[in-house]
Amino acid sequence: MSEPLPEGVKYLVKINPVEKAPKLTDEAKAELISVGMMDEKGKLKLKGVSPKMLKRMKQESVNCPVLSKEVAFVQCYVCRNFHSRVSGQVYCKGDPL
Ligand code: SF4
Repeated sequence: MSEPLPEGVKYLVKINPVEKAPKLTDEAKAELISVGMMDEKGKLKLKGVSPKMLKRMKQESVNCPVLSKEVAFVQCYVCRNFHSRVSGQVYCKGDPL
């Protein structure tokens, strides 16, 4: 029996360790810059995420069920569908993007 998903969460998406996460899309970058989580040089500044954690996040990807493609975990983390990360999985709200 699997645990019931939290309210508003549609998918449980497994986080995969990879050599190098897929490139962030230009849209994702623009979004990150607009919310102050990336500087103009493309350096990430995620609030509350240590450099060590960030390094790990850059080596993770998810197979996004909404976009139907592999995306960098960093992109997933800042996605408006991102609910939380629990034991190697993303709780995704699953709304159309
Ligand atoms: S949070 Fe966004 S990027 Fe991550 S799996 Fe859900 S829709 Fe895809």
